[in-house]
Amino acid sequence: MTEAAEWPADWSARMAGKDCPLCGVVGGGDNDHSIFLWSGEGTETRLQRRSSVPAYCIVLWAEGHVAEPDELSTQAAARYWRDVVETGRAIRSAFEPLKINYLTLGNAVPHLHTHVFPRLLGDPFPGRPFPWDVLTDVPPAQDPELQRQAAALRAALGR
Ligand SMILES: [Zn+2]
Repeated sequence: MTEAAEWPADWSARMAGKDCPLCGVVGGGDNDHSIFLWSGEGTETRLQRRSSVPAYCIVLWAEGHVAEPDELSTQAAARYWRDVVETGRAIRSAFEPLKINYLTLGNAVPHLHTHVFPRLLGDPFPGRPFPWDVLTDVPPAQDPELQRQAAALRAALGR
């Protein structure tokens, strides 16, 4: 048997921002899940603590609750994607990946955010998506290692 394949009963309310955990993260600095890297124009970029690859970043929409990029004005959407691309540039510059993965999902937490992480030499899944559980079901990285990654990413953007 697989898990029940149903969206939560309150899904429409969650899409509209009910109990949104990411709304509470914006502007709050470091937390148990991630550390703050930088603010963009309408976004916040954070570094994930639990990751089997270094420099796993999340770019969050920071100007209120929005679920999908198509809910933004054209100008706001352009700012969002520019900041996503800038995060990718920082990862490319600091970690020299073979590939960068950009994932805008929101199937568990429907607040607009994009996962940006490098695919590096030695990656166990070449040519395929990185399985979510392998990516995130690991103990949190220690602060000195996270701060080293954060410093490398900020330096790559001159921040
Ligand atoms: Zn939200």
